[in-house]
Amino acid sequence: MKENRTETNRRGLLLCVSGPSGTGKGTVIRRILASNPKMVHSISVTTRPPRQGEQNGVDYHFRSRGEFLSMLDHGDILEHDLYCDHYYGTPKSNIDALLAAGTDVLLDITIPGSLSVMNSYPEAVTIFLMPPSFGELRRRLAGRGTEDPEAMRQRLEKAREEISKAELFTYCIINDDIAAAADKIMAIAQAEHCRYERQKGLEKNILAR
Ligand code: 5GP
Repeated sequence: MKENRTETNRRGLLLCVSGPSGTGKGTVIRRILASNPKMVHSISVTTRPPRQGEQNGVDYHFRSRGEFLSMLDHGDILEHDLYCDHYYGTPKSNIDALLAAGTDVLLDITIPGSLSVMNSYPEAVTIFLMPPSFGELRRRLAGRGTEDPEAMRQRLEKAREEISKAELFTYCIINDDIAAAADKIMAIAQAEHCRYERQKGLEKNILAR
């Protein structure tokens, strides 16, 4: 991490948000983005077919399996995972440039995805978004109506396994209220920016002024 940073040239945070499908990660992230122009969401690449209403380049970069594997081969993917038979990956593209420019980058990724980011970016912040209960998760997934019964069964089965991995994350937030969950993520980001480690050398700049 670069030293002698001040509040104005601080490095951005890489915020990894994970949690079972249906917990509301996307909704909470959209809420954060709406009120924070200095935060961006990295749009993932996926081989999953688009759901009704999803737009290429907005919700995801929708690609064929061949295209995805070729991106992997070319080193264009920062981390990736195979989730319910489809590939999902974070494009490397401009993440380093955004962080260097002080922009906070939000990733909505699987648990193995967050753990893999932690390896390459140990300064990343990992947040587990938890549903209030398994029953509520089932209701939310069913209510969303985006998965057929088999895909829903797969996602719920996966959710049990995912929830048991919460201990691997630094932060855990129960999403029982979208606005409150978004505020908590913002509070975490604010606190993380205040860590001395992220502001090393600041005192020299203060004393020099
Ligand atoms: P969905 O199909 O519901 O949009 O996403 C399924 C899962 O894939 C979610 O848990 C979501 O967080 C995860 N996901 C989306 N993009 C990425 C990515 O780039 N990398 C990884 N590892 N997971 C992702």
